[in-house]
Amino acid sequence: MSKYNILPIFIPFQGCPRKCIFCDQNIISGTNIKDFKKDILEQFEFYKKLKDSWDEIAFYGGSFNYLSDDKRAFLYELTKQIDVKQVRISAYPKRFDKNFIKELQSNNVKTVELGIQSFSDDVLKKNRRFYTKDDVLNTITLLSKNGFNIGIQLMVGMYGESLEDILLNLNYLSNLKYKFLRIYPTVVLKSTHLAKLLKEKFSLNFTFPEVLAISTIYLISAIKLGATVLRVGLHNQSKIEDNIVGGYFHPSFGDIVKTFAIYLYCKITTHKPKLFKNFPNYKGIIAKTWDIEYTNEVNFKSIADQVWGMYIENNRWFTERVIFKIAEEFWGKTYQR
Ligand code: SF4
Repeated sequence: MSKYNILPIFIPFQGCPRKCIFCDQNIISGTNIKDFKKDILEQFEFYKKLKDSWDEIAFYGGSFNYLSDDKRAFLYELTKQIDVKQVRISAYPKRFDKNFIKELQSNNVKTVELGIQSFSDDVLKKNRRFYTKDDVLNTITLLSKNGFNIGIQLMVGMYGESLEDILLNLNYLSNLKYKFLRIYPTVVLKSTHLAKLLKEKFSLNFTFPEVLAISTIYLISAIKLGATVLRVGLHNQSKIEDNIVGGYFHPSFGDIVKTFAIYLYCKITTHKPKLFKNFPNYKGIIAKTWDIEYTNEVNFKSIADQVWGMYIENNRWFTERVIFKIAEEFWGKTYQR
């Protein structure tokens, strides 16, 4: 099967109604926009040359729906200079109305990725996010009714986030209609207001193994629902590690989370664990802990279903902190090997 190619254009901070306390999109995307049209054209020309054909063009790293009319028109125009099947945007989960929906439809936008981060109004406010859970739900309903593919981005271990907030997120994650999920553990970059807060007197509420466990629960819930998890953890851009002063960064975070999902499955099977070929196996921890049988009958979805039924459906992970304890055990093992 040939690969689906997305031409990415990064528009860091463009349109954003406020700077969220954790965000430094220039570092995360490795891009700076000084002259909007010129800098974007440069990115476009650079990527265009890399391949003969592209399937989709995407605008990441800013708030597309808060850009001025002029800037949006410029970006739509750009999408027409290349033969793509569809357009994808990253958007702030507020200020969607019928007119904007029509505008998106007439410009071939089929996928909208919403930077939701949390469904807790309190957490959103503390992190200077300028919307509420109800705004998010209204936006999702409107996009869904109009046939858009919806992507959701959630952060884990945000400033001010409690276990109750995680449960709230999980409730929506397990019931809403969306197609893609991206999971980002909170990373504290030195230029941000969050870095200042943590230096002064505050701290984040979770340990690394707890954030690993929560990210795994989100991953499993999305897969069980039939959604595709596009990303777990930040891209390891060259400049990121130099700028991190706290939080939960690991260059292999996604691999660790998937391995932990398999680890949870191996813990509950009463027989020899059956796994598919090339299963995620960070530091070989699974194969070193269990005697594995390979089979085509098992895939990640069936594993997610079993782990969800055992740990998440009845909230055992929360009431007894079961998954947190297993995450500590797992993380301790990866350190030893
Ligand atoms: S997190 Fe998103 S909305 Fe907030 S400042 Fe960064 S790019 Fe803008």
